Amino acid sequence: MAMSPAGSEASFRQLTVDLPPSLWQALEAAVEASGETVEHLVRVALSERLGIGDHGTLFQVSTAAALVEGLYKGVVTVAELSDHGDFGIGTLAGLDGEMVALDGRFYQARADGAVVEVADSARCPYAVVTRFTPVENERRVIDEATDLAGLHAHLDGLRESANAFYAIRIDGRFDSVLTRSVSPTAEGVPLAEAAASQTEMEFSDVKGTLVGFWSPGFLGGALVSGYHLHFLSDDRQSAGHLLACSGRSLAAVVRRESEFRLSLPESAAFLRADLSRDPSEALRAAESKP
Ligand SMILES: [Zn+2]
Repeated sequence: MAMSPAGSEASFRQLTVDLPPSLWQALEAAVEASGETVEHLVRVALSERLGIGDHGTLFQVSTAAALVEGLYKGVVTVAELSDHGDFGIGTLAGLDGEMVALDGRFYQARADGAVVEVADSARCPYAVVTRFTPVENERRVIDEATDLAGLHAHLDGLRESANAFYAIRIDGRFDSVLTRSVSPTAEGVPLAEAAASQTEMEFSDVKGTLVGFWSPGFLGGALVSGYHLHFLSDDRQSAGHLLACSGRSLAAVVRRESEFRLSLPESAAFLRADLSRDPSEALRAAESKP
């Protein structure tokens, strides 16, 4: 067998299969109803049947409580994360900026304002990823969001439940975006203290994508409940944890995810840490605009 570079188009193989009429009709009906291509539908069905790809599954590394307590050592590589998703958010080892993954590429938004694509070998202490390629008929237009609360209100209307996870992707031209990026911080310094010296950046009239999730509140300190979004500009020059934004004619896709996988660090620091405190207050302070 000829070897092809990993991830290249050349590594795709073609499959020809004879289908009985009933299966063909069901496939056509599913394509019609979902707006997905036959190819995408078959790929998803195959990967679900074969147990690969984690479709509809949120994969999280470590817990929000651990981050709040200052556990910033990288516990998973970007290569490992990309086995579980092509879309998501997190932070880099040593709390070195914000991480955002979009269309299979992982970016680091550093506190000095630089945005760089991260190496497969880079490590993350905390991340949430999923497989998420929106299809056209999932898009909903948000006519106008004058501020972050307004955007959240629109997103509320696109969720049918408070008791599930949702992957959220919003593309468009934003009138304004305010982000922050955390600075490298010594292990053990609480997140609230680290976030107090974060760098805020404001962008106006910028095309880009908001990447993130809505998570239910019933899992306590395991995760950041509610909305958690990161921004990445189309030119890949601006990014960070979203603090505020406004925009018009934004294309939003909000997709329910019913499965949640939590991968816990095996480090001594994590195993010995006191994670009994409720991190919600510290998270609110660290994740939103004061
Ligand atoms: Zn964030």
